[in-house]
Amino acid sequence: MSPLRPVYITRMPSVSAIPQRLCLGPGPSPVPPRVLAALAHPTVGHLDPAFLALMDDVRDGLRHVFATTNPMTLAMSGTGSAGMETVIVNLVEPGDRVLVGVNGVFGGRLAEVARRAGATVTTVDAPWGRALDRDALAAAIVRDAPHVVAVVHAETSTGVANEIEGLSDLVHAHDGLFVVDCVTSLAGMPLEIDAWGIDAAYSGTQKCLSCPPGLSPVTLSPRAVARLERRTHKVPSWYLDLTLLKSYWGQERAYHHTAPINMLYALHEALAIVREEGLPARFARHRAAHERLAEALSALGLPFVSQEGHRLPMLNAVAAPAGSDEAALRRRLLDEYGIEIGGGLGDFKGKAWRIGLMGHGATAESVDAVIGALRTLLAV
Ligand SMILES: *Cc1c(COP(=O)(O)O)cnc(C)c1O
Repeated sequence: MSPLRPVYITRMPSVSAIPQRLCLGPGPSPVPPRVLAALAHPTVGHLDPAFLALMDDVRDGLRHVFATTNPMTLAMSGTGSAGMETVIVNLVEPGDRVLVGVNGVFGGRLAEVARRAGATVTTVDAPWGRALDRDALAAAIVRDAPHVVAVVHAETSTGVANEIEGLSDLVHAHDGLFVVDCVTSLAGMPLEIDAWGIDAAYSGTQKCLSCPPGLSPVTLSPRAVARLERRTHKVPSWYLDLTLLKSYWGQERAYHHTAPINMLYALHEALAIVREEGLPARFARHRAAHERLAEALSALGLPFVSQEGHRLPMLNAVAAPAGSDEAALRRRLLDEYGIEIGGGLGDFKGKAWRIGLMGHGATAESVDAVIGALRTLLAV
């Protein structure tokens, strides 16, 4: 055979060969049929008036879930990490002081992205499984007067909620911007962008919004927009530059890059579902599913590794069964029951399981399915 000719090996003849799964890991979450149907709707042009009207609706829906009136609210093309990078590269200039709370993978990623943007980064750290210490954060804010203070609301790698309400006044008093990662918290637990004084936040579609991955909701307060407009250096990323993108999402509708049309159809439908359910009912559903799971896990003898009183409803981090091959057990859960749960990351690698009850997956049925399967697999 000629070495220049490519060899095609057919291993997955069609996507229809991909099995159905119950996604109870750290994301993606289960996508409801209505959202999948929206995704399959015929593609139109990204400047089609009908599509532009749909974008306006998406923006309204995002303001609703973020609890904000921020004019600059949009869905970035890309996953949650694109939202993280968007917020950092637009608000940070080389040499800026950035303070990041780090108690897991995503705080660590935020610090790394800020370093790459040229910031002088300091961190306030907490051990894996514990919440950030508010007094330590406050002391660092007073000491450094950071240009940006960034905290992860729901640390998906450890299942811990960081308390962010009440921090913004101190950040603002030192002329800083308060940035929050709400990739996992958005639409799954209370979050108030305006009432809590948050200047910039980003999320992802595949966690509690129950949409496939691919878009990142982002919102900036007027204070953050003013900082963006005062920049002395150009935003270093052309693709993520909000000063350019606002012309597409704003009145001018100027072409920047082709919007992922069908993903926006899907997000539109996912946001409609959130509105129909109502945020308080949605939060209560997540909490109820978490409580049902927590009780059953404790009966199975699997203790939480996240700090009591700071546990996330949508991401349950528990110790993997002692003395077991935890990866083999997760594999059997997938192969024999079609259920995906997550393994541990970082300090928790090989030691913890992460059971996600996000969006459409936050139901008693999901809890009973995973617990029933685990009971059999662990023979308890
Ligand atoms: C999932 C997640 C991200 C990254 O999102 P991707 O969609 O994987 O790029 C960032 N922060 C938190 C807290 C997350 O849970």
